[in-house]
Amino acid sequence: MSLPSTAVPEPAASRGDVRIAVQATGLVKTYGSGDAQVRALDGVSAEFAAGEFTAIMGPSGSGKSTFMHCLAGLDTLDGGAVTIGGTTITGMKDRKLTQLRRDRIGFIFQAFNLLPTLTAEQNILLPLSLAGRKPDPEWYARLIEVVGLKDRLGHRPSQLSGGQQQRVACARALVGKPEVVFADEPTGNLDSRSGAEVLGFLQKSVRELDQTVIMVTHDPAAASYADRVVFLADGRPAGELADPTAESVLDHLMRAGR
Ligand code: ADP
Repeated sequence: MSLPSTAVPEPAASRGDVRIAVQATGLVKTYGSGDAQVRALDGVSAEFAAGEFTAIMGPSGSGKSTFMHCLAGLDTLDGGAVTIGGTTITGMKDRKLTQLRRDRIGFIFQAFNLLPTLTAEQNILLPLSLAGRKPDPEWYARLIEVVGLKDRLGHRPSQLSGGQQQRVACARALVGKPEVVFADEPTGNLDSRSGAEVLGFLQKSVRELDQTVIMVTHDPAAASYADRVVFLADGRPAGELADPTAESVLDHLMRAGR
């Protein structure tokens, strides 16, 4: 599609050798008005490199969910802008935004949101079927292999464990080779073993399948699977950690709480 000649050039989608999957600049989001107004995001800027697994952490109410929803174009902003793969989504018309979310973004939520009457395979392929697309066969085969669902594809959700169901949801998020996958507390409904399986898969999808994952979590052990942790406090950036461990994340959170 051609842009009108007066259009402002899109921001660069790369910096040196680093491809930027998602860029947030000065995000502001307020809820309510008057005395009851809450500034959920108070000027948050961050860059998320392609091929990286980032965790977003912070105390309850620090703005994590709001941040993720704004990054994914699920919520509108009061200030600032978000670009995904160099396309500015802020201010985009609803229809175009819906299409962009469908074609270029994957979502994983705490609730698995699988359709109970469909098999695992039908659930995984559903977003593509709805878009009238077919999966790239090589990609699909690799994905099923990595997610470890090869012998479960004909099962319905009720015949799968919670961890397996969430792995189906992960495969569904990745089947269209999105530019970024947003995961909102993906292990919140799982026991620690199933949670570890899902996190291990998300990590593999980044390391072996070159995907980009941004995950909100409040669990330092979950964050330790990421390459980087971005911290929020009171709707503002509150530091970062590279190559996190559960201990270093906990330490950062405790220092911030002092
Ligand atoms: P977190 O995910 O870190 O727990 P949230 O993004 O959910 O934080 O919330 C950040 C702040 O914005 C909190 O003070 C919360 O109460 C407020 N908030 C979030 N969503 C809404 C909403 N829909 N209406 C009013 N206030 C909201």
